[in-house]
Amino acid sequence: MVKLKYKRLLVKLSGEALMGQSKFGIDPKVVTRLAGELHTLLNHGVELGVVVGGGNIFRGAVLAATGLDRVTGDHMGMLATVMNSLVLCDSLKQRGVAAAVMSSLDMPQVCDRYTQRDARRRISEGELIIFAAGTGSPYFTTDTGASLRAIEIQADLMIKATRVDGIYDKDPLKHDDAIKFDLINYDQAIDQRLAVMDVAAMILCNDNALEMVVCNINKAGALLDLVKGRKVGTHVVYKEA
Ligand code: UDP
Repeated sequence: MVKLKYKRLLVKLSGEALMGQSKFGIDPKVVTRLAGELHTLLNHGVELGVVVGGGNIFRGAVLAATGLDRVTGDHMGMLATVMNSLVLCDSLKQRGVAAAVMSSLDMPQVCDRYTQRDARRRISEGELIIFAAGTGSPYFTTDTGASLRAIEIQADLMIKATRVDGIYDKDPLKHDDAIKFDLINYDQAIDQRLAVMDVAAMILCNDNALEMVVCNINKAGALLDLVKGRKVGTHVVYKEA
């Protein structure tokens, strides 16, 4: 077996990663492909936790913008992450992968309840755990949820799998002259207001010495390259206090 640079990973997939070319919802073909990428990692002995966002279905801020209650919107957003988690879990199971959804909001008929103890044990036994419903609290994002779960399961690395191949000084989809960073630290990302993830998530990562790589999920094999130690995307490191 190939020597791995990282043994335990937390992979954060944005909800939009599940949409494919659509403008909304879930493209089952894309889910199948993503499940395949994750399965390959497991076959190489990687221990995996996954967080899926919900932005392909609903974001709480959208409801708040119409004058309705933000907390209600955030609950709806968290339920969207549960839907995404369920479809990804099902696709993994179809491949024979031992996978389960653990939710921060209790819904025993639908999926397991999240506890740090169980999650860490199950992941170390080779089960792929999908963490649904973010942090379980409104006013947070799934990036913060992913950072929190990554720290709790003692992941060696968090991978933020997006639709761009790293962090740029400006939006590469809008600016041809955008420059990509290979390596950056959380302080720089916060100071320069780079669109990496929300500040709460970055502070959590920095304070708990969690490294992160931002990479393009649409590049087949990118995740495996990364765990083998190849340079992929942008590496975000913490600063010693
Ligand atoms: N959300 C929340 N608390 C959390 C995580 C998510 O209230 O801890 C809600 C929030 O409304 C958010 C939505 O769920 O907009 C979907 O998550 P997110 O926007 O992070 O999804 P992504 O952008 O990764 O698809």
